[in-house]
Amino acid sequence: MRQSGTNLPKVGRYNRAVVLDRIQLADGISRQEIAQHTGLTAQTVSGIVRKLLDEGIVREDGVDRSGGGGRPRTRLRINPGAGNAVGLHFDPAELTCAVVDLLGRPLITQRRPAPLGTAPADVVAAMADLVRDVLAEADLPRSRVLGLGLACPGPIDQELGFVVEPPRLVGWNRVPLQRMLCEATGLPVTIDNDATAAAIGERWAGAGRGVANFAYFCIGTGVGGGLVLNHQVYRGGSLNAAEFGHTSVLEDGPQCYCGNRGCLETLVSPEAIVAETYRRLQQQPTDTVLLEPFRRDPDMLNHAVVRVAAADGDPVAAAVIDEAAQRVASVVVNVVNVTDVDLIVLGGRGIRHVEQRYVDAVATAVSTRPLSRHIRVVEVTHSPLGPDAAVVGGAALVLHHIFSPQLSVLLPN
Ligand SMILES: [Zn+2]
Repeated sequence: MRQSGTNLPKVGRYNRAVVLDRIQLADGISRQEIAQHTGLTAQTVSGIVRKLLDEGIVREDGVDRSGGGGRPRTRLRINPGAGNAVGLHFDPAELTCAVVDLLGRPLITQRRPAPLGTAPADVVAAMADLVRDVLAEADLPRSRVLGLGLACPGPIDQELGFVVEPPRLVGWNRVPLQRMLCEATGLPVTIDNDATAAAIGERWAGAGRGVANFAYFCIGTGVGGGLVLNHQVYRGGSLNAAEFGHTSVLEDGPQCYCGNRGCLETLVSPEAIVAETYRRLQQQPTDTVLLEPFRRDPDMLNHAVVRVAAADGDPVAAAVIDEAAQRVASVVVNVVNVTDVDLIVLGGRGIRHVEQRYVDAVATAVSTRPLSRHIRVVEVTHSPLGPDAAVVGGAALVLHHIFSPQLSVLLPN
């Protein structure tokens, strides 16, 4: 898929980002190929590449003679060590921090429990401690660190850098997290909701590399997501797009905290999966390994136990997980019908051990239900970044902010 640059003047920053993006997404690419993919003139590409080489962000890496008799072409690659970014994922239960290189590859990752139920100031202090420890372990000079990207629960007011009443953080009303974290760490801070960050992480270093249109589903305590459309992260009017978890799948279903009824999230959440397994076990099914331990201690039942049992093929656990996967699949079909994306990436802790069951259910649905299947079948994959997608995504926010072509650069202020 071609992402066009433009040869008009005053768009140098945008063109630079288009070229850099193309080099980042390719596994070695020549100047000629960049020109073909971007529609930029050979002179424009050559000028931009010269500057990127001078700055050390890009390096020349070998010569490609496979071009079929033409002149050998020098391959260009990102110089991964030319800069680093710090990613921080704030899950209400856990803080994870990683330092990544320019290809989005984590060099050091550390995690620790989040201070639960405490004031924002205490959480920020804990975040700053963790960032300091990770940078110390990575042993990097501050000058190499381009910034800190925070992936945290939304909704987020991007303009102000505020977290606005996230559902699982009681008392967090309009917290200026971006400014607080910037003051505490001395680093420039970019902030985004965790699912969007993870989608950006997938675009830089995961399944979405080079894919023009994809949707990322993050299935965890809730269900969030991110949309990349025509190579751009689609954010929507209030910058909170892709709330897949609050799509209504049962009109008269349970009330959701968001105000809607029968939201996907209320039906596939860890609590819902445990409750459904509980209900089935009370009917005394004989074909499950869960029944004996459940009789002895019903509290043994939790989301992870159900997932592990389903992964081992336990019929009761597998039926519950497959039902949840069907719900997710229905929403995926709606998303495919609305957005016409080429790829669905499934990630998040909530599908650990049962990734394949979710992928299979969704793949079957997208090959049989969306209208566009007659043109081509949407690909479905599990996130290669796994539970670390959000922290890699946090770091990728920084890189994305600096390097990715944003059409908004071209718009008048
Ligand atoms: Zn809802």
